[in-house]
Amino acid sequence: MTDYGVRQELEWNALTDDEFRDIVREEFEANYPDEIRYPSRRLYWREQSAWFQRMSEKGWIAPNWPARYGGMGLAPSKLLIFFEEQERWGIARFQDQGVRMIGPALFEHGTEDQQRRFLPGILSCEHRYCQGYSEPGSGSDLSSLRTTARRDGDEYVVNGSKIWTTMAHDVTHMMLLARTGADGRRQAGISFFIVELSTPGITVRPITDIAGHQELCEVFLEDVRIPIRDRVGEENHGWEVANTVLRSERIHIGSPQLPAYGLESLGNVATACGLWDDRAFRAKYAELLLDLEHLKDIYGEFAQAFVEGRPIGPDVSLLKIWSTDLIQRIAEVIRESAGPAGAVVGRIQTDDRETIDILDVFYKALPSTIYGGSNEIQRNIISKRVLALPT
Ligand SMILES: Cc1cc2nc3c(=O)[nH]c(=O)nc-3n(C[C@H](O)[C@H](O)[C@H](O)COP(=O)(O)OP(=O)(O)OC[C@H]3O[C@@H](n4cnc5c(N)ncnc54)[C@H](O)[C@@H]3O)c2cc1C
Repeated sequence: MTDYGVRQELEWNALTDDEFRDIVREEFEANYPDEIRYPSRRLYWREQSAWFQRMSEKGWIAPNWPARYGGMGLAPSKLLIFFEEQERWGIARFQDQGVRMIGPALFEHGTEDQQRRFLPGILSCEHRYCQGYSEPGSGSDLSSLRTTARRDGDEYVVNGSKIWTTMAHDVTHMMLLARTGADGRRQAGISFFIVELSTPGITVRPITDIAGHQELCEVFLEDVRIPIRDRVGEENHGWEVANTVLRSERIHIGSPQLPAYGLESLGNVATACGLWDDRAFRAKYAELLLDLEHLKDIYGEFAQAFVEGRPIGPDVSLLKIWSTDLIQRIAEVIRESAGPAGAVVGRIQTDDRETIDILDVFYKALPSTIYGGSNEIQRNIISKRVLALPT
């Protein structure tokens, strides 16, 4: 064992890409439960816990974390292979915000005590996280948030509410932004906390979405007491921590995972509808495929910086725009290509006795340009902070 989990079976980055792909593929194909391949909604923890506990025990739960923190420490080409193989086999995503967001935030801003208290729970999947940033009226303009955390001895007392909190009803912890100061720039008065959702005063209420699923929630906080030692970063400096989280989120939202899955679905639809001989369809498909290859290239550069612990700059917004724009274009081509079946909800039978869910990619693509900070906001970030265009 290392300090933070299972010792890795092999020096992954010393393997060739093909050797690594074979190992990962064999594991996924031999052991991932068939009945939860390609789910059309986010699964609840009870439906997928056996698989992710297996991943945890193998030391595969955090492929993107450095090995010294208990991750696989994969180089970008290997990380991409890991994701590609997950997509190819239809492995469900779990509520992995601890792995994707909290871990990286704690590597950069956490105290040693916080790293020791919080990282093991993420690696063992005992602690799963949601993100308590957005509030009614504070989405794009996040710095206007109104939830307050008032200092009382060695605790904070938190009051307010959060909205669009993904899977808050199925996780154990929340990363929380709350206002601790009123002076200066609005961003300057915000602090970042980790809070257990079982803390008295927290109420979670699910919201039903357009597809009939309950993935989003409202979270109400009434006189919730959080110990000071669970504040990450300095008081009133939570904005820096929140931005670290958002930048790692943008790498992950900007990963080729979702568009690669979309393109695979498009390929299945093309086969089911006999479109491969149609030149117009092939031209569209080729354009999307090339855009996916470009995304993989640029993603590889950001993933390299991430794995090496180099700072991720505001230009990472490019990834999020490219990936989510691409998945929406793929979703449109799927719907067009499926003809009348493009409006059918749920799985439909194809000629070769397979079933296919035409609208699955559409439902996954639709909100992607909104969550993680809308694409308009990403474009604002690029224009101001990367290109320094006049406002
Ligand atoms: C599926 C899904 C999951 C989510 N999960 C979470 C979660 O787990 N945790 C969490 O905290 N939040 C979550 N969110 C919330 C998400 O971060 C916000 O919806 C997003 O930041 C936009 O905020 P808003 O909805 O308040 O829209 P608004 O901020 O009201 O924006 C409305 C529209 O105006 C545009 N706009 C706003 N300001 C500008 C501007 N300055 N320039 C140009 N255009 C602008 C926006 O781009 C958008 O199109 C989730 C959202 C979705 C859809």
